[in-house]
This record gives sequence, C-alpha cells and structure tokens, in this order.
Amino acid sequence: MSELHGKVIIVTGAGSGIGRETALLLAVQGAFIVAADFNEIAAKEVVSLIEAASGTADFYKADVSKGDEVKGLIDWTVERFGTLNGIFNNAGIGLVKPFLEMDPESYHRVINVNQHGVYYGMYYAAKKMVELQVEGTIVNTASIYGTMAAVGSFNYNAAKAAVVMMTKSGALELAEHGIRVAGVAPGFIDTPILGGNEERKNRLAAQHMRGKLIQPKKVASVVAFLFSEGATAINGQTIPVDDGYLSFKK
Ligand code: NAP
Repeated sequence: MSELHGKVIIVTGAGSGIGRETALLLAVQGAFIVAADFNEIAAKEVVSLIEAASGTADFYKADVSKGDEVKGLIDWTVERFGTLNGIFNNAGIGLVKPFLEMDPESYHRVINVNQHGVYYGMYYAAKKMVELQVEGTIVNTASIYGTMAAVGSFNYNAAKAAVVMMTKSGALELAEHGIRVAGVAPGFIDTPILGGNEERKNRLAAQHMRGKLIQPKKVASVVAFLFSEGATAINGQTIPVDDGYLSFKK
C-alpha cells in the first residue's frame, strides 16, 4: 500500500496544468484529494478522472485570493474527510506588462493570487493541522522567476520571490509542530498559463537544456516526492524543476 494512502491533501488550481497532474498523481498514490479551483467545471472533471481511476476526490470552489474562501476550503475538507494532512498551494496567474504600465490593479491582481493566496493556504492549513495535532506537509508553487528577474514580470517576480521566502520562513516556525514546508520552482511548463503564441513558446522552450517546454507531469512527480516520507529532510527549500533554466545562458 502506498504511503500516501488515506492522506487528505488539498490541491489548489487543480483544474488545469500542474495542479491537475499533481491531483491525479497523488490520488493514484492513494491520497484523498480535494480539488480546489475557481474553475468549477475543470476541477469537477479532475474529480471524475480520479474516481474513474478508483481514487478518492471531491471538489471545492474557492478563489485563493480571498482569505475567507480559503478558510472555508480548509474547514470543509476536514468536515468531508475527517482530517488534513497536506496542501499544495499551487493556484496562480500571469499578467505580463512592462514596468511603466504596471498599474496598481495589474500589480495587486497577481500579488493577491500568487502571493496572498499562498499565504492564506499556509496559514489556515497550518492552524488546522496544529489544532488537529497533525504533522502535515505544505508544498508551494514558486517559479524560476522567484529568484531571477524577467522583463514584464515585476508583479510575478515579486509574488514568487515572496513564495520562496514564505516557504523558508513558514518552515522555520512550523517545524516545532512537526509541519514541513517545501516548494517547487518550475521552469516553463507546457500548460494553458503560457497562452497560445507558438513563437513565444518556442523561444521559451529554447532556454531549457533539452530545448523543450517541461511537461506538467514532471512537476507533479517532484511535488508527490515532497509529500512523501522520503522528503522528510527537505524543509524550507524550493526545488527547481527547470531543466537547467537557472543554470546557463546561451
Ligand atoms: P494553469 O494551467 O493556468 O492552472 C492554474 C489553475 O489555477 C487554473 O485552473 C486556474 O483557473 C486556477 N486559478 C487561477 N487563479 C485562481 C484563484 N484565484 N483561485 C483558485 N484557482 C485559481 O497554470 P499552471 O501552469 O498549471 O500554473 C500553476 C502554478 O505554477 C502557478 O502558480 C504558476 O504561477 C506556476 N508556474 C507555472 C509555470 C508555467 O510555465 N506553466 C512556470 C512557473 C510557475 P483558470 O483556468 O480559470 O484561470
């Protein structure tokens, strides 16, 4: 039996891309999944796929940029499945603009989802785990853009850098409760967030050592490892899943 069997894990942004593949993989490994997304149709589809594979999952509609909705997600999960062992704070958006056009609305929109959404997930999940005396695991999705700057990404850079540090800072304070926090920093992953511009995608692909966009399954497998016992000594770190993106410049 898999070590994740019966572990209750929330995946935010589960309706698409990295979240979807991770929800499917964790479920195959035996976890009970709460697929959280504000895209209800997409997340319900993921639940159906998990059930078709004999897994266990349910759906909860939540906008991670709203603290009360994330708190509702955590409370509902415990009512539905009886406990909470983990959360993958993954939902995120992109909004590329030159800095001089980075008006407060464009800045706050990305910060609210990509930074505050992760904070809400960490905070409400950790409070619940401590209340339940569960030694759980929190995994956050950062980005290569959490440690390197990119043109047009001031909002995204700021939010993802915050996720890298929130992962460290949260790990430090939660360790005494047996709660572990880690993160992934994906390179460019072949998901809808990249948009449909093939020329741009080819340009981005060329920045990886193998010259290809990374498939979301490759991030899912690292996230699943971070939730596993094998990763017990990984705490506060954000693991690049970037096919060398951060390691070279052509
Ligand atoms: P994706 O395919 O667009 O999936 C993101 C999912 O999150 C979508 O279902 C989206 O719904 C949902 N979502 C967006 N805002 C939300 C909110 N406020 N509350 C709840 N759900 C929300 O993107 P992805 O590539 O898998 O991205 C997942 C994470 O990886 C993000 O944090 C992203 O920043 C990060 N990341 C991605 C890449 C990449 O190249 N793909 C690289 C580095 C980091 P809608 O479809 O309705 O918007």
